[in-house]
Amino acid sequence: MEKQCTRCNHVMHLYLRKLVYMNHTQIEHVPMYRCCYCEHHELVEQVKEDLKQCLQHLRMVGEQRAISFAEHSAFTRMMLEGCTSEISFDVDEWLDLYLLVQSLGDTLWQYQIIETLRRTQQ
Ligand SMILES: [Zn+2]
Repeated sequence: MEKQCTRCNHVMHLYLRKLVYMNHTQIEHVPMYRCCYCEHHELVEQVKEDLKQCLQHLRMVGEQRAISFAEHSAFTRMMLEGCTSEISFDVDEWLDLYLLVQSLGDTLWQYQIIETLRRTQQ
């Protein structure tokens, strides 16, 4: 699956990414698009609602060390069956993550990312 980058019109590739939610829970296997040219990241539209529900679930159950997004998303389960490679979360990608979270409208998570960025700047 590929799509065109909204920034530079190059090809974006689908991959599975690890997200860190509220500094305590690793959400593995989140499908995202990445542009090989400008490094623009985008959440796959089909899983946006699944991710929102997954976050609601995390708020209800409290802290967990790691979960797989595949438990919350049929689309992701399908992807996992055909894909074993993963790219691990990089601290330099906090700003990308911030933009992603902004598109989800999760202000609490946004605030937490800003706090984390502040700490790493000190
Ligand atoms: Zn691009």
